[in-house]
Amino acid sequence: MALATDMSSSTGESFVDCLDGLAAFLYMHELYHYRFDAHCLQMEATGGLPVYGPYRRLVANRPISEWHEESIGNFYGLEALRPNPRFSYPQPICDYLWDLAGC
Ligand SMILES: [Zn+2]
Repeated sequence: MALATDMSSSTGESFVDCLDGLAAFLYMHELYHYRFDAHCLQMEATGGLPVYGPYRRLVANRPISEWHEESIGNFYGLEALRPNPRFSYPQPICDYLWDLAGC
């Protein structure tokens, strides 16, 4: 809620539109994590070797600047805001989230 409030005051767009854009971004970001985790678990189940646990330990020992999964998740989230033939978010909302995600 605080982020949507800041987004609204920074962009001049309505709180509802900002919250909707933020929710779309977060949904797609988390959906990417879900797909990544499911893929790792599928590789582990079919390959017979641990994949998920070693990956999580590797990431936990790296600085946040090397968490590439987060960068890709942000890209997926930002792609959800890209204008399409059916719907587009106001440009200031897209710009705010692009600046926030730092892609
Ligand atoms: Zn994430």
